[in-house]
Amino acid sequence: MIDEEQRGSVATLLAWWREMGVDGATSETATDWLSRGDEAPGAGYAMAEADAAPADVTMAVAAPRVRAPQPAFPPRTEPVAEAPRRFPTAPPDAAALAAREAARGAPTLEALREVLERFDGCALKATAKSLCFYRGRADARLMIVGEAPGRDEDIQGKPFVGRAGQLLDKMLAAIGLSEDDVHITNVVYWRPPGNRTPTPQEVQVCRPFLERQIELVAPDVLVTMGGAAANALLNIEGGIMRQRGRWRDLTAGARTVPVMPTLHPAYLLRTPVAKRLAWRDLLAVQERLTATRGK
Ligand code: URA
Repeated sequence: MIDEEQRGSVATLLAWWREMGVDGATSETATDWLSRGDEAPGAGYAMAEADAAPADVTMAVAAPRVRAPQPAFPPRTEPVAEAPRRFPTAPPDAAALAAREAARGAPTLEALREVLERFDGCALKATAKSLCFYRGRADARLMIVGEAPGRDEDIQGKPFVGRAGQLLDKMLAAIGLSEDDVHITNVVYWRPPGNRTPTPQEVQVCRPFLERQIELVAPDVLVTMGGAAANALLNIEGGIMRQRGRWRDLTAGARTVPVMPTLHPAYLLRTPVAKRLAWRDLLAVQERLTATRGK
């Protein structure tokens, strides 16, 4: 039993963690990083030979990490347990190369999901609970790409299932579409800790998978939700208010797809007055879908 004072300390500690962005557990057991001396997370794992050699980058996806000789850290008094989660060791360029090689070889969406499940090159995987690949139809005419999974998505393992996702579903319903008509995903497949924006490196590493996903789904129209998704996918700079509502082209593998950048539903929840702009974008999307039907 803990007493009142201890209860207060635990509550304070939990509140502080929450402020720092720690709002969920990723493992049943706590990892005592302090007992590892000065060793950084992942420092005990060396890059497998193949990880370092671009000539055989596919190995970076599935090869087990080799436990390297321990670096000269202060001597430990007791044995240290292995970290329960593995951290990527390949630099982003090598990881992106490995991703490209692995994604290219996936002939179907299910194969792509399996490749993603085995892929260890994205740092986000170490802190996320689940892979959030997609929800909706595999061969939809409309593909929607958001920024990153949040807490609800991480729990359920599907993109856009929280409050923003519920608004997205209502927006789609307003133009006569349901989950069965669309393919919904994000520019990264794992939840960034504390819901921060994914870094350019995390986006870069996930991008080959997203491009392959676009090729496999082969949508007629793609919509990006929010500034981060538009900037990441279209390599454009600047605020979403300037970018939204203007058609762009995106080339993914052998396909070129028209893309409509629009506002993120999470932003619309905070700023309802902006809904009329998103509505205008959705009507343009509906028009384009009608115009390209059967072509
Ligand atoms: N926001 C996103 O951009 N994607 C999700 O999946 C959920 C919230």
